[in-house]
Amino acid sequence: MSVSTIVPWVIGNWKMNPATADVQKWAQQFNQCLQLAPIAQQQCNIAVAPTYLSLISLKENFTGYNRTVHVVAQDVSRFPGTGAYTGDISAQLLQDAHVSYVLVGHSERRELLGDDTQILCAKIKHALDAGLTVVYCVGESLAQRENGEAEAVVLQQVKDIVPVVSADQWEDRIIIAYEPIWAIGTGKTASADDAQAMHAKIREGLKQITAASDRVAILYGGSVKPENAADFAACPDINGALVGGASLSATSFYKIAASFAGKK
Ligand code: PEP
Repeated sequence: MSVSTIVPWVIGNWKMNPATADVQKWAQQFNQCLQLAPIAQQQCNIAVAPTYLSLISLKENFTGYNRTVHVVAQDVSRFPGTGAYTGDISAQLLQDAHVSYVLVGHSERRELLGDDTQILCAKIKHALDAGLTVVYCVGESLAQRENGEAEAVVLQQVKDIVPVVSADQWEDRIIIAYEPIWAIGTGKTASADDAQAMHAKIREGLKQITAASDRVAILYGGSVKPENAADFAACPDINGALVGGASLSATSFYKIAASFAGKK
């Protein structure tokens, strides 16, 4: 298997948006797009990370579609199982609710919500133990890029989770999302060449960690939109996109998924 045979992933991250009524409208519009021009399962994996409030209802909406669309939790508790952890949702509860994917390490959680390496590793360990697949986000700040530290920072973030990911879990239980922090929600994107260069470095770094380095999906995130998706999709080491702002529009998100589907 070579990198080019990885089925791409396009994942929408809705963050702390939108209200329940909008979710239903989004689901209807996205379904219409898929009805008009289907995207085959083997061309592109599609997933959406809504707030916890909409996770289950959106999952139910997706059961009526002509293809699988996954739901992804935006976060998971650092504590396993059940217990007195007010406000938290554990990996086991997600698994009980048939939610099989979770985002961990998004820069907003690292920067604003206190998720350090120890917490991230605990979250990933419990998610993997519960059978979930983890979308693990990495990325450098603008200052780190300007100081020439981007590569070292990103590769260290990948290495940080080695203690909690077993050799066989890298291939199909970990998806890496490279999201340069300066490109998230700013309208600035890394150029496709710069993104490809970092993705190639990440894959090279993965070679020291797992024999499955060529089979690990590495997504790009940072102001991906319909206008630039095809450029990223054309890069050999970019296996999909994590999409914030543009995923709030069903038609924009569909177009991005269609761009990556066209890659195969
Ligand atoms: C994100 O939040 O993961 C993201 C990539 O956001 P945006 O697409 O809005 O930059």
